[in-house]
Amino acid sequence: MSTLDVVDTTPDIPANVAAYAAGGGDSILVAGRRSGAAGGGVLPNVDPGTGREIGQIASGTEADVDRAVAAAGRAFDGGWRDLSPSARARCLFALADAVEGEADTLAALETLDNGKPLTESRYVDVPLAAEVLRYYAGWTTKFAGEVLPVSPLVGSAFAYTRHEPVGVVGAIVPWNFPLLLLSWKVGPALAAGNTMVVKPSELTSLTALRLAELATEAGIPPGVMNVVTGLGPEAGQALAEHPDVAKITFTGSTATGRTVLQASAGNLKRVTLELGGKSPNIVFADADLDQAVEGAFMGIFMNQGQVCCAGSRAYVDRRVHDAFVEKLATAAGTVQLGHGLAEGTDMGPLVSEDQRRRVLAYVSQGSAEGATLVCGGGPVGTEGFFVKPTVFTDVREDMTIAREEIFGPVLSVMAFDGEDEVVTRANRSRYGLAAGVWTRDVRRAHTVAAALQAGTVWVNTYNMIDPTSPFGGFKESGFGRDLGAEALKEYTSTKSVWVGLD
Ligand code: NAD
Repeated sequence: MSTLDVVDTTPDIPANVAAYAAGGGDSILVAGRRSGAAGGGVLPNVDPGTGREIGQIASGTEADVDRAVAAAGRAFDGGWRDLSPSARARCLFALADAVEGEADTLAALETLDNGKPLTESRYVDVPLAAEVLRYYAGWTTKFAGEVLPVSPLVGSAFAYTRHEPVGVVGAIVPWNFPLLLLSWKVGPALAAGNTMVVKPSELTSLTALRLAELATEAGIPPGVMNVVTGLGPEAGQALAEHPDVAKITFTGSTATGRTVLQASAGNLKRVTLELGGKSPNIVFADADLDQAVEGAFMGIFMNQGQVCCAGSRAYVDRRVHDAFVEKLATAAGTVQLGHGLAEGTDMGPLVSEDQRRRVLAYVSQGSAEGATLVCGGGPVGTEGFFVKPTVFTDVREDMTIAREEIFGPVLSVMAFDGEDEVVTRANRSRYGLAAGVWTRDVRRAHTVAAALQAGTVWVNTYNMIDPTSPFGGFKESGFGRDLGAEALKEYTSTKSVWVGLD
């Protein structure tokens, strides 16, 4: 069924979800108490599926950040740091359970805020966030220092390391996976004994606020997780500059990441940056073509292409290029666009009118620079911020659409002839977040995976994420890692302790 022009923007919004969104004017949560911004400012909260305002959020500024950082500092010194690992574990397990217990509401809130289909928020974002919290709950009792086999030149000694929490962590997160990406920060930060101030995206603040409320309900002391909603250059910048914040964990665009890094220099905060991408997805001629098409489709169109690791550059062996494009365009033509909460929606709207304008400008530029538009390419309907799934062929690497992160449902397909050639071309990017390889040849799978400059490589699959698997970038896609045991190290300082034995 080709239903691209039929957009259902009138779903039933559950009453509790609509009420929570409507009540967002006091979305600043400090030491367990909600309030409006100190300056009284508010920002509109818009449903991307309709373009209509569904509520407001507080527009926090420096004064709100000061208050939140002070509360987080008190909670750190006042007990969270020194709570036993098993007590912290119980809190995080309880929070994971609470997230699962409220999964329907959290998923609907996420969809209302971000636009993504409810099936994605209900069966990916929310359950995976709970899994991440549970994974780090398990680590609290297992993240140990080491006894060191020292051989001092003078005397004898016993030496060991301790992993100590850094203090108040500022978490600045984007709008594309608001709850899930926040769980990547909350899990390791709290497991390691830190406290937090969270600055969600001004476009999608609701699930961060609800998560912090659930944290209190789960027994995490007030002040351990605080939320300041507001604009990036105001609330976000104040957090990144704050002298009492020990670490900033940031996920967002490369441009903002640079600003955050500079703002953090004042007190030499520790910084981890999870930034943008322009990930190559390489399809060799020996691949299972149907599987590769399915993976490439999901790799670029999931979450409307608003995924940091979206496989936005498809390199396809010239021998299978035309068949690949035909199958992909056919699949794109059957996508049901609609409000994320509407029955039967495969793909939702983009997050905002600004985002749609940016994406459509890239589409126009692609055509103007000589790429061939195979399908999609335009807006849909009169309500909401919809863009058709879009595929370009005849793309050259010097074209803007092949170089810049579009962050929308736009795929650039390029033909290649050889393995070395495609690896060189895939690596010719300032980004290095992820990559895909489709082949049945075991040797090729591993040599290409090793040669690609990317923090994650998927072979014969795409977009697989698990709490155990570190995630982060090479090159301008950032530094530091979320997830896995590696993330715990990002939230701790290692102390060496020496005990003289003479
Ligand atoms: P963004 O950089 O515009 O905003 C991210 C966050 O930073 C928001 O909370 C925003 O309010 C805040 N911010 C903006 N200006 C700031 C400033 N001057 N100081 C402090 N904070 C500021 O990104 P976005 O548009 O929300 O998200 C999309 C981007 O995020 C894409 O580039 C995408 O690739 C990236 N992303 C990366 C990952 C990853 O893990 N590498 C994951 C998801 C998204």
